[in-house]
Amino acid sequence: GTSIEVDGLHKRFGGTKALDGMTFTVSPGRVTGFVGPNGAGKSTTMRVVLGLDTPDAGTALVGGRRYATLPRPLGWVGALLDAAAPQPGRSARNHLLWLAHSQGLGRRRVDEVLDLVGLAGAARRKTGGYSLGMRQRLGIAAALLGDPPVLMFDEPFNGMDPQGIVWMRGFLRSLADDDRTVLVSSHLMSELQDTADHLLIVGRGRLIADTSTAALLAAA
Ligand code: ADP
Ligand code: ADP
Repeated sequence: GTSIEVDGLHKRFGGTKALDGMTFTVSPGRVTGFVGPNGAGKSTTMRVVLGLDTPDAGTALVGGRRYATLPRPLGWVGALLDAAAPQPGRSARNHLLWLAHSQGLGRRRVDEVLDLVGLAGAARRKTGGYSLGMRQRLGIAAALLGDPPVLMFDEPFNGMDPQGIVWMRGFLRSLADDDRTVLVSSHLMSELQDTADHLLIVGRGRLIADTSTAALLAAA
């Protein structure tokens, strides 16, 4: 398995301290919840891991390497960062075919990931008409295309209906059972306490607690 190691990340946006010494490790084979209030630095941390934001100090490694030095195509980290509707005039399948093509992947993989996220039946509809939950599923499908060992999902429960939440829980579990490294953020502990094996609790840009979910709930 491939770990994510974040060590001493600092990041300022003007006068705002987004990250203030963020440090943790995410291990393979379990679902790790990344919990904290809005503004705690969860998204910024994920963006730094993906090389989309540059930290002022500290390091973020995937499998011991910086993201920028990981081999291409995007086989190492699959990410859902937001659920913007990609190309609203195109179908989900066309969008994924285009992404797969740009990553050097075949059409068969597109139909596999559509099945995995439960969008096979809606794959030929334009994504502009998708609900937020469906857009989340489409973003997850895109993250899965390269069959990455490491997955990061930022607030994937947003906009999911109760049925979608049940699906998401089982789906995250299956990724972890497959020995993948799975980091899932939420501002709501209630979304993660039945899903995550392990919790990283953050506030004001730093780690507050690093605990198994069972140990935390037993102490509550
Ligand atoms: P979370 O994902 O936990 O809600 P974020 O990482 O999105 O937290 O944000 C951490 C802090 O950094 C917040 O105060 C946010 O407003 C600020 N921030 C994040 N990105 C930017 C940016 N591009 N420009 C200015 N401030 C930002
Ligand atoms: P859109 O959601 O509009 O299709 P992209 O998927 O291209 O946008 O993603 C926006 C940014 O995120 C790009 O800079 C891209 O390089 C980066 N990105 C997208 N998917 C991944 C991934 N799996 N791993 C790392 N970076 C990614």
